[in-house]
Amino acid sequence: MAQTAVATGPYTDRRARTRDLRARYLFAGEVLDFYGALLGVQEQAYAEAQSARPGALDLIAYVAENVVPAVVDMTVAAGPLKLREGVADRLNSTDPRELIAAWIGGEEQGALDRYVARASLSPVLEALGAEVAATCTGVRDERHCPSCGGLPQLSYFAVASEDLAAGGRFLGCARCHATWGYARMTCPGCGEDSSSRLPIFNEEGNASGERGSLVRGLEGRLGDHRKDNKAVFPHVRIEACETCRHYLLNIDLLADPAAIPIVDELAALPLDLYAREKGFSKITPNLMGF
Ligand SMILES: [Zn+2]
Ligand SMILES: [Zn+2]
Repeated sequence: MAQTAVATGPYTDRRARTRDLRARYLFAGEVLDFYGALLGVQEQAYAEAQSARPGALDLIAYVAENVVPAVVDMTVAAGPLKLREGVADRLNSTDPRELIAAWIGGEEQGALDRYVARASLSPVLEALGAEVAATCTGVRDERHCPSCGGLPQLSYFAVASEDLAAGGRFLGCARCHATWGYARMTCPGCGEDSSSRLPIFNEEGNASGERGSLVRGLEGRLGDHRKDNKAVFPHVRIEACETCRHYLLNIDLLADPAAIPIVDELAALPLDLYAREKGFSKITPNLMGF
C-alpha cells in the first residue's frame, strides 16, 4: 500500500474521476463541483492524519480541531446555499466534538450535522485504518462494515483482479469507506434473497446483465440526457427491495473499469430521484444527502 501511495492515492484518484464525470454529467455539475472542492480538503486531512496518527482516544478531538474548521470554511465558500447558511449557524452554536461523537456513536443526526461529521471524519478513519475504526459504535454482521460497524453506502461489482470470494460483489461503508464482500441478489438492508422481491432498475443498454428480476423503465426519466440512444449510466443501476423498501446504487466496474464507486454513486442523481419516486429510500444517504 505504501509504495503506491506516493504517486497516487485514494483522494487523487477520486479528484480525477470527479473531473471526468463533471465533463460527462452536466446535470450533476453543482454536486460534483462541490464534491471536488471537498475532496481537496479531505485529501489534506488524510495526509495529515497519516503522519500525525492520533490514537483512538484522541480521534474525536483531533477531527474537531484539525479537520472540521477546514470542512466548514470550504462549505461556507463553495457549498450549496442551504448548506452554506446552515453550517455556519450550526457551528456557532454547537461544539464540533458533539457532532463527531454522535456520528461515531451511530446516533440519529440531522442532515447538516451528519454532513459535517461525515465529511470530516472519513478521511481520518481512512488514513488510520481498521484499528481505530474498530472503536466506532455499530453492529458487526454481514450487513454492516466489518471495520467500523457503519451502514453500506453503495454496492459494486469488482473487476476480476479483486478478491472474488463473494461472487465479486462488494458493499462500501458510509462511515470509513472500507469495503466488504456481500452475496449478489441479496438485499444489503434486510437480507431478503428472493429475486422476485428484489427489483433492479436500469436503462436499456446497461451493460451489466443479471439473473433475477429486472425492471427497466428509466428511459423516460433520462430522455434529455441520452445521446445517440446510448445509456447515460451504462454501469450504474438501482438495486431495490420490496421487503424493506430500501435501495442502493450498484456500480459495475466491469462495465466501466475507470469508475470509482464512491464518486460515480454521487453523480448518479437521476437514479436516486427515480428510486425515490418509486417509494424506495436509500439504506443511508450519501455525503451529499441523496
Ligand atoms: Zn466502516
Ligand atoms: Zn430489504
